[in-house]
Order: sequence, then structure tokens, then C-alpha cells
Amino acid sequence: MITAMGGLVIVTGGGRGIGAATALACASAGFDVCLSYRANEAAAQQVVAGCQQAGVRATAVRADVGVEADVLELFAVADRMGTVTALVNNAGIVAPASRLDDLSADRIDQMMRVNVLGAFLCAREAVRRMSTRHGGTGGSIVNVSSRAAVLGSAGEYVDYAASKAAVDTLTVGLAREVAREGIRVNAVRPGLIDTEIHETTSPGRLERLTPTVPMGRVGAPEEVAAAIVWLLSDAASFVTGALLDVSGGR
Ligand code: NAP
Repeated sequence: MITAMGGLVIVTGGGRGIGAATALACASAGFDVCLSYRANEAAAQQVVAGCQQAGVRATAVRADVGVEADVLELFAVADRMGTVTALVNNAGIVAPASRLDDLSADRIDQMMRVNVLGAFLCAREAVRRMSTRHGGTGGSIVNVSSRAAVLGSAGEYVDYAASKAAVDTLTVGLAREVAREGIRVNAVRPGLIDTEIHETTSPGRLERLTPTVPMGRVGAPEEVAAAIVWLLSDAASFVTGALLDVSGGR
């Protein structure tokens, strides 16, 4: 159990799945929460209500992380709530299973725009606020990568896997860049987690791939959220640049 924390966390893609579980876990740990979503306002507002029930302040902002103006607006809303002390770079997309020789330039561009550009833009805005170099008081960033970065996702979405490998490198490089400026930067690499994202690729994907997980089951969003909250917390005070697999051994 993580002891109560204060501060304000931005969780991108906090309306559903891993981001929603993370927003709620952060609220339980005492963070005020500013979450973003792309389209599903009802889901986002439900998470906001859950956070508020935990006794913290919470708000939801419609903001596409792949659009710079939206990212700036997300952080402007957070600034009005208080001092941003934590960022969870969670928003991400996959696409229907495809071989690389069938990929369109538009698809690859969109994958990189959301998963890579989005993570970079949010990290940039967080560093501008948290870094002691910019007059901030420090903070913690957790990027949501994927075991796909290591496995490569052959025959499904090599573009997605490559986007997550970029998130891993962002994590290691930025961690070293700001280590003396009061900011820790880490990543979780989830394996197969039971969320709606798999509906985008192919029906029955989770069931089909469950036997490939050494623990013999898929993970719950809350199990990823617990790892994220630990990395955000002072319990992980000497942990930076870490890529933490949350994958049941896969
Ligand atoms: P999910 O259930 O599909 O939820 C995605 C969330 O991100 C939603 O709140 C969605 O908003 C938001 N979102 C999508 N595109 C966005 C954009 N351009 N700007 C802002 N928000 C956006 O996905 P998930 O399974 O929780 O995945 C969360 C993260 O974990 C992703 O980065 C994913 O790659 C990673 N991951 C997932 C798994 C897994 O097995 N589930 C495994 C490894 C890594 P709306 O609700 O408005 O649509």
C-alpha cells in the first residue's frame, strides 16, 4: 500500500482502460487528477466522478495528444488546478492487424503522431513545469509503453511496436537528461491487458493469445495502475529510466 501522496497528476487517455484505472488509483493515493480523452466524454466524466468520490479534485479535458494546441490546452487547464507534479503518458492507439507490406503512410503517420509525438509533447510540457532548471520543484513522469516494443508484433502491427520502442528510448534518454532537475522518468510495459483496445485489432485476440502468457491469464488494468502509482510515488525515489514489465512473464 502506497502512503497518501499529494500533488496534481495529468493522465492522458484517462477515460477508459489502463488510464481510467490509473486515474482512480492516483485519486485513492491522494493526487488531484486532470485527465484527457479524445472522444468518449461520458466515460471520462464517470472517471472524474470516481476520483471525486475518493475526496480529490478532478477534471476531464477533451484533448488529442497528437495535436499540439490540444496538449497546450490540457496543460493550461491543469495549471489552473494547481502545480503539476506528475504525468502519466498513457494515451495510445493500435490499428487492425496488418503485415508491414500492406501499411499505408497515413496509418503509420497516425500511429507515430499519437503514440510518439503525443508522448513527447506531453513530456515537454511537464518538464517545462517540473524542472528545477525552469523554477519548478520536481516531479515524476511515467510513460505507458508495451511489451510489443520488445516482441515486435510481427504480422499484427510492427508500426505500433516501433512506436512503443520509441517510448522506451524517450524514457531512458529523458530520465538521464533531467535526473539532476528533480524529475524521475520511468515506463511500464504492459503485456496483454483486458481493455477495449483489442477490439480495434481483431475479435478474440485476448482469448487467442492467453496461452502465450506464462502466468496463464491476461492482466487487469488495475494491475498496471498499481505499478504506475508505485513509480510515481516516493517509494520509487531512486528509480529512474526503468522499463518495468507488467506482463505476467510474457
Ligand atoms: P483503451 O482502452 O483503448 O483506452 C484508450 C484511452 O486513450 C481512451 O481514454 C481514449 O480516449 C484515449 N485516447 C486514444 N487516442 C487518444 C488521443 N489521440 N488523444 C488523447 N486520448 C486518446 O486503451 P488501453 O488498453 O487502456 O491502452 C492504454 C495504453 O496502454 C496505450 O498506450 C496502449 O498502447 C498501452 N498498452 C495497452 C495494452 C493492452 O493490452 N491493453 C498492452 C500494452 C500497452 P476515448 O475514451 O475518448 O476514446
